[in-house]
Amino acid sequence: MPAEGPTVLILPGEGIGPEVVHVARDILEHVLDRAGLDAAISEHAVGRPAYERTGQWLPDPVRDKLDKAAATPCGAVLFGATADEPIGELRSRYDLFANLRPARPLPALRAVSPLRPERLEGVDLLIVRELVSDVYYGRRRTGTDAGRRWAGQEMYYREDEIRRILRCAFQHAEARRRHLTLVHKANAIPDVFGLWLDVLAEERPAHPHVEVQEMFADTMAMELVLRPADFDVIVTSNLFGDLLSEITGAVLGSLGLLPSATLSPTGFALYEPVGGTAPDIAGTGRANPLGTIGSVELMLRHTFDAPRWADLLAAAVARAVESWRTPDIAGPEDKPCTTEEMGAAVREAF
Ligand code: ATP
Repeated sequence: MPAEGPTVLILPGEGIGPEVVHVARDILEHVLDRAGLDAAISEHAVGRPAYERTGQWLPDPVRDKLDKAAATPCGAVLFGATADEPIGELRSRYDLFANLRPARPLPALRAVSPLRPERLEGVDLLIVRELVSDVYYGRRRTGTDAGRRWAGQEMYYREDEIRRILRCAFQHAEARRRHLTLVHKANAIPDVFGLWLDVLAEERPAHPHVEVQEMFADTMAMELVLRPADFDVIVTSNLFGDLLSEITGAVLGSLGLLPSATLSPTGFALYEPVGGTAPDIAGTGRANPLGTIGSVELMLRHTFDAPRWADLLAAAVARAVESWRTPDIAGPEDKPCTTEEMGAAVREAF
C-alpha cells in the first residue's frame, strides 16, 4: 500500500444511495481515524443528480478521477445506488467482474428472518456472481413477424469469462470451508451452461481439497430457503446471481442488510449494498444502512488489508442491532429507528 493509502471515491448516486452512503462514509472515516490508516477520500455526484446538473450520468471529471484511481495499486469506490446509468458503465469500463456477496445472519436478528431459527443455524454463505457478461450484455433484437412483435436478447459467455470467475470462487472456497456449488441451468440452456460445466471440469484438478457440487438454479432457489446452512461458496452467472442474492436477503431478514464487493483483475474494487435505489422509501429516513456499512467492512478487508478493523466493525454492527432496528428489521415490539440513528449506534458500539 502506498504511504498515502488507498484512493477512495465516494459515489452516493440517487434514491436511498446518498442517505446510506452518508452514514457509511462517516463510519469509514471514524474507523480509519481510530486505526491510524490513511486514505485519499473524495465524494462525487453520479446518476440523476449529476445528470440534472451536467447532462451526464457519469460526468467527465468524475470519469477521469475513476480512471486515475483504477490505475493506482489500491483504488476503491464506495457506491450508493443508481437506477440504471452509470453503474453498468462502471462495471464494464473497469472490468469489475467478480461480485462477492457474503451473507451471515446476525444473532440478534434471528427472529426477523421468515425462516425457522434452526434453519438459520450455521448459515455462512458467499455468493460469487459474474458481473460483466451474460444476457445483460447480450445482443438485442426486436422485430415484427406476421403482425406479432418479437424480442430477443442473447445469453452469451466466453470461456475466459467463465474461467476467471470460477478461479476466483475456488480461491475463496479454499480460504473458507472448501465447498463450492456451481449454479447453472444446463438442462434448459445447454450451450451456455454446458460451457460452464466444461470449464469447471478443467479447473477442478487444481483444487483437489475443494468439494464441488453443481445444482440447477431452480433447485438452488428452493434449497437456499430450505437448507441455507448446507452451502459455503455459491458461484454463478450474472442473472442467476442477481436472483439468488435477493432470496438470500429475504432469508436473512432484509435486502438492506447485504453488502457486496466487486473486484477487477487489477485489484480496483467497488463496494456497494446489494439493494438498489429503493424509491419506495427514499427520503423517508427508513433505509437500512447496514448493507453499506458492511460494504465498508469489506473495503477494510480487501482494499485496506485491515482484517482486524473489519472484524471490529462487524462486531459493532452485531452489538448495534441488539437495541436499534430500522423499519425493515424491526419486530412488532420494536420502536424503529432512522438511518442516521442506526449509523450513530454502530459508531457508538465501535
Ligand atoms: P432498483 O431499480 O434501484 O434496484 P428497486 O426498488 O427495484 O430499485 P431495490 O432498491 O433493490 O429495488 O429494493 C427492493 C426492495 O427492498 C424495496 O422494497 C426496498 O424498499 C427494499 N430495500 C432495498 N434496500 C433497502 C434498504 N437499504 N433498507 C430497507 N429496505 C431496502
